[in-house]
Amino acid sequence: MPSLKVLLIEPTRTLAKLVTRIVEQVGGNGTVLTSPADAAQLLRSEAFDLVCFAATLGGQSAVEFARQVRVQHPTLPLLMLIATPDETFSRNAQCAGVTQVFLRSDIMGLARYLEVAAQRIHEGRLHGRALLVEDSLSTARFVARLLTDVGLEVISVPTAEEALVAFAAQSIDVIVTDIVLAGASSGVGLVRELRTAHGEPGERIPILAMTALDDTARRVELIRSGVSDLLLKPVLAEELIARVGNLLRNKRLLERVEAQQADLRSMALTDQLTQVHNRHFLVEAAQLALSEARRHGHPVSLLVVDIDRFKTINDTHGHGVGDNVLSQVAALLKSKSRGEDLVARFGGEEFVLLLPHCGLEDAVRKAEVLRLAVERAEPAGIRVTVSIGVAGLTSAAANGFDELFSRADRALYEAKNKGRNAIVCS
Ligand code: GH3
Ligand code: MG
Ligand code: MG
Ligand code: MG
Repeated sequence: MPSLKVLLIEPTRTLAKLVTRIVEQVGGNGTVLTSPADAAQLLRSEAFDLVCFAATLGGQSAVEFARQVRVQHPTLPLLMLIATPDETFSRNAQCAGVTQVFLRSDIMGLARYLEVAAQRIHEGRLHGRALLVEDSLSTARFVARLLTDVGLEVISVPTAEEALVAFAAQSIDVIVTDIVLAGASSGVGLVRELRTAHGEPGERIPILAMTALDDTARRVELIRSGVSDLLLKPVLAEELIARVGNLLRNKRLLERVEAQQADLRSMALTDQLTQVHNRHFLVEAAQLALSEARRHGHPVSLLVVDIDRFKTINDTHGHGVGDNVLSQVAALLKSKSRGEDLVARFGGEEFVLLLPHCGLEDAVRKAEVLRLAVERAEPAGIRVTVSIGVAGLTSAAANGFDELFSRADRALYEAKNKGRNAIVCS
């Protein structure tokens, strides 16, 4: 497991100890030196993730030290610890390449920085499949190697045309593309094609464009064509990985939010106890089904199914058993229905079935099948029966869901009056 490697140049023993302890607390390890010359030498032979040093280094200028290190290590974070706030000094330090200046008294601030840095190293590995579109063989090799090293699977192609084929053939998490390509189409053409012609996945895939063009107008044009981010060539390893990492993280975040939204949507339309549709969904879907049926002259029927003496079941066996009965009856109704039928829990112990392309006679037959199935099923080991009211769309009336439902409901009332475990057709 990779851990944060910190080089600390701090002549004050107690502070050096304190910082080392913080580094260890975040799971990293620290090397302490007191002379900047030794540090510069060590940095030539060993790789560190971060350098932290005091502003006063025994007579030598810490700002000058930062400037020297920065030449060899353009992306290495350099943190400087100063004793008292001094704006001019801090600004000079930052101009010389210091990443951030911390007050020695703000040990908590430093600790937070180290914690985030350690976490970044810990999460440094990326997951997913990258499509690399680059015609220069050497650059393609270099970039592919960098992406592979951080954990990505890389598919490398030299032209936009091949990129489109590869993109259509498999799931890709990020595209890294050069702009001037070998084939007839450029990287900009590829981006346009993906953003327009390929629908959902192409519209949303994160695209990082690599370009040597230090030309503002072309850069703006690239952004307008739909790239997610730009990377100037020659490619700097750390920058490439940081940008690809950001794109992948944003993609995953978006996917997580979308999955949660889909769950919420389905939760809002599903009855949680029985997992059939709820009343809200039924009413919405029924309006659509009814207007469709009227337009094409198809029959539609509605069944209102109500469990008989359910209150007694609750009172005798308890509410938990009652719930169990409700779930099992719902599952039975669902299993006896066709895919296009809509089964919903309308309220308490009452279910509604909307049957498209089903005339009244067939609906009554269907009701009889359901009534018998429930009677035979003995859900939760209890004899349970249902009464069912049936109604169908009439050609004469301009009936909507409410009218159809109230006719089926009146029929149900009659079925109850007839002694229950019965079917009445309106
Ligand atoms: P009828 O044959 O006339 O339909 O009589 P019934 O007892 O089935 O009808 P009633 O409307 O008097 O009682 C319905 C009962 O359903 C009352 C209510 O407590 C119970 N109920 C409603 N929702 C739930 C639920 O989610 N779980 C359980 N266990 N019971 C419920
Ligand atoms: Mg090229
Ligand atoms: Mg009932
Ligand atoms: Mg009822």
